[in-house]
Amino acid sequence: MMSDTAVVDSRTSAEALRPSDGGTGTAIHALIERLYPLCRSLTGNGLRATLAILGEELARDDIALDLHEVPSGTQVFDWTIPREWNIHDAYVKNSRGDRIIDFRRSNLHVVSYSTPVHATMSLAELRPHLHSDQRHPAWIPYRTSYYQPAWGFCLAHSQLVSLPEDRYEVCIDSTLTDGHLTYGEALLRGEIDDEVLISCHVCHPSLCNDNLSGLATAVFLAKALRQRPRRHSYRFLFVPGLIGPITWLARNESTWHRVKHGLVLACIGDAGHSTYKRTRHGALDIDRAVEHVLRTADLPYEIRDFSPYGYDERQYCSPGVNLPVGCLMRSPYDRFSEYHTSADDLDLVRPEALADSLRKVVAVAEVLDGNRRYINQSPKGEPQLGRRGLYAPTGGSLHRNEDQHAMLWVLNLSDGQHALLEIADRSGIAFATIRRAADALESAGLLKEARSPSAS
Ligand code: ZN
Repeated sequence: MMSDTAVVDSRTSAEALRPSDGGTGTAIHALIERLYPLCRSLTGNGLRATLAILGEELARDDIALDLHEVPSGTQVFDWTIPREWNIHDAYVKNSRGDRIIDFRRSNLHVVSYSTPVHATMSLAELRPHLHSDQRHPAWIPYRTSYYQPAWGFCLAHSQLVSLPEDRYEVCIDSTLTDGHLTYGEALLRGEIDDEVLISCHVCHPSLCNDNLSGLATAVFLAKALRQRPRRHSYRFLFVPGLIGPITWLARNESTWHRVKHGLVLACIGDAGHSTYKRTRHGALDIDRAVEHVLRTADLPYEIRDFSPYGYDERQYCSPGVNLPVGCLMRSPYDRFSEYHTSADDLDLVRPEALADSLRKVVAVAEVLDGNRRYINQSPKGEPQLGRRGLYAPTGGSLHRNEDQHAMLWVLNLSDGQHALLEIADRSGIAFATIRRAADALESAGLLKEARSPSAS
């Protein structure tokens, strides 16, 4: 999945992030730390243990995480739920009995979904089963073999090239049996049944940015939204990559239509700038909401057009599904060299970056929830704002000035055709200010919400 894009140091913009977050970034990082040691995969007990921790964390705020177990062999569109994989131990021992490659030191040492093996062999026989990354000789790469039965070990290239001729004892104590695929789902009900879908892949072992950052940020997003009034309902999916969203989609086809906006959260905790990948359509409310939030955050950011590779947005945006789902990241997989290696560790993800990402996703939710259309109740000439206490007679601070500009924009474009987000974009004023102006005008009887069904 690596592209030709130049890899830049993903740590360079850390100083641009605001340091103070009231401890939220530290709390998100602490959740990542708790999840980090578990050996997750597409299926199995590591995945279940992860979902149990997420469920425990959500339960502190009275949010229920529903767990689903889908049997191996179940057909989900063009795919079949695979057998369940569990691993207990794995190692390569030299002839002196030293565990020179040891699953207990890093779960990345074993190719995920490795079939069981216990044998003694020469280096030449072992060599085809060893995987390393020459470009980063000190790091252990992450490899999987989900849909092709195989076994293997991953190790630092520097260790691989120094392995002597020997008789090696090779053991992977794993099981691959009929079982289940597990995923977690939480729903925060809002005023309306229209949903915002938040989805993260939960299948990677000890890797932090990809994607413990996504899981932990989604959990804290749910906690934040739980505390405030919500117009939309918010559905959170914690699913193994690719097969997980396909499974959810196959089991919930009758309710796809409720999903009006959606985001995949991935690689969202490193110190690089925010990156948004647009929906397949490219100009839906979710696209405009995220782009507005990034543009007004006063930090560097990047917008990418949709492509049919990347994370689980490609399932939600497949042509027969075509849900309005974009993907919010910091450094995408092709822009941080630590991607899918042991260097994607607890130091790569930063509390201040996690807090900044969470702030932005909460702001996106505020835009989606607050983006309504209104009708100006006094459209013939400007209404007299001073009489209603909405106009500062002697002029005033710049802030006050912006509030008044916002009121004039909202009054002018509230003809039932323009939603507040469009007014924010057209005026260049932040959505929160536009929303505040609309609230003041509505309280003064100058605006009424347009009740006709809207595109949002
Ligand atoms: Zn990945």
